[in-house]
Amino acid sequence: MLPDQPQKIEPLHLAKAGKKIAGQYVLNDMHRLCELLHDNTGLVSFTLEFTRDEEHKLYCVVGGIEAKLHTVCQRCLGGMVLQINSPVKLGMVNGQTEISKLPDKYDPLILDDDPISLLDLIEDELLLAVPISPMHELDHCSATRIINKIHDEAPNRPFAILKKLTQKVHN
Ligand SMILES: [Zn+2]
Repeated sequence: MLPDQPQKIEPLHLAKAGKKIAGQYVLNDMHRLCELLHDNTGLVSFTLEFTRDEEHKLYCVVGGIEAKLHTVCQRCLGGMVLQINSPVKLGMVNGQTEISKLPDKYDPLILDDDPISLLDLIEDELLLAVPISPMHELDHCSATRIINKIHDEAPNRPFAILKKLTQKVHN
């Protein structure tokens, strides 16, 4: 973490003052996220602008998060690098009941009386940006090569097996 980066923030105060926060965290500090990774090295970069959306009459946080995550492909179980470039669009609400009033383009940020952890906020956004089943592009996944090989070697195999089975029944 950069030395001048606040650990705790009060989003509403920052939005009323029109503040901007940009910085970096090491991935290793994000313990929930690290459970999804097979290598915790790397950085998360973020820019957050706390501001007022005059059109929708609400305070919001807009910005972006960037990270390179070392995760596991769910098709071939090989290591893969997942590039995250995720926009942040949070609308501040005072409680669960206000969430339904938020315009579609915003995710809710529920305000609390206590300051919130900046790291938790960034980690939450990053967790939402990670796909449930990350996979290589088809052309770059070793599972694709294996599946193609099976298809090439025995294109009609299921029918061949079926034929054998029916022969057995008749005999
Ligand atoms: Zn793969």
